[in-house]
Amino acid sequence: VEVPVGTKDEYGKVTQAFNDMMLRLREAEKIRRKLVADVAHELRTPLSIMQLKLENYQQAGQHIPPEMLLRIHDEVIRISLLVDDLHVLSLAEAGQLSLYRKPIDMTVHLERIVDDIKYEAEENGLKVHLSVCAKPVIVLADARRTTQVFINLLTNAIRYTPRGGEITVKVEDQVIDQNKFYVRVSVVDTGIGIPEEHLPYLFDRFYRVDKARSRHTGGTGLGLSIVHQLVKAHGGFIRVESCINKGTKFSVYLPSGNERGEDREDREGN
Ligand code: ADP
Repeated sequence: VEVPVGTKDEYGKVTQAFNDMMLRLREAEKIRRKLVADVAHELRTPLSIMQLKLENYQQAGQHIPPEMLLRIHDEVIRISLLVDDLHVLSLAEAGQLSLYRKPIDMTVHLERIVDDIKYEAEENGLKVHLSVCAKPVIVLADARRTTQVFINLLTNAIRYTPRGGEITVKVEDQVIDQNKFYVRVSVVDTGIGIPEEHLPYLFDRFYRVDKARSRHTGGTGLGLSIVHQLVKAHGGFIRVESCINKGTKFSVYLPSGNERGEDREDREGN
């Protein structure tokens, strides 16, 4: 049997495709290794601290005081949240996160969320404003997941805004971007801001602008990557603008409920 001999050009193309594939595989392997290392590090630190504290009491033959138990309990909760966040992230990244979409009026939805978070903001000396449309603003979305998106953004706004600051949530309908209609929800704070050079990495897992500060404020470094993935799963996207010592604005774009085609397809998939 005579095997057709490829031209030099064809060999070149095959070799190129093979090299590209190897490069992508190597890249994926690098990302996987970094993730495992990051997760190990994130879990190792609080676990080591707890282990050390418990061993100190054990060696001294002392009972653990109730305040210490409370602190250890808080750490355990933080680790559980981290594991939950990682689970959601890995599902979303693999495209396996199930969304239970229903028509949601974003105005009512955000009124509830802002109401829930207001107390925490006030405790931190911050005012929260909500600016909404008079008409219902409908999005076909998963209520639980979108709540998670806005709670994460609002928690960050609270964390990174000094006392006396303000947080504004704005809901807008029929925002056009590249010929598509979106509902835009922006979360604006008057906080510490984010240096421009950090903005491209902000949605990466475990990325923190100021490591010491974030750890101190109790963040896991996964909040924004989850926000990004959840918004993406809804067919939307997110933008960020920031100015140091002036504040930050996150804008979430979700496909408008009036744009039927894509949403219906997605709903049937779930
Ligand atoms: P974390 O759990 O550390 O808050 P996130 O993924 O939610 O992690 O955020 C990543 C980093 O982005 C934070 O560590 C912080 O440095 C920065 N950041 C997020 N939101 C804001 C904000 N509203 N103002 C200033 N910096 C922010």
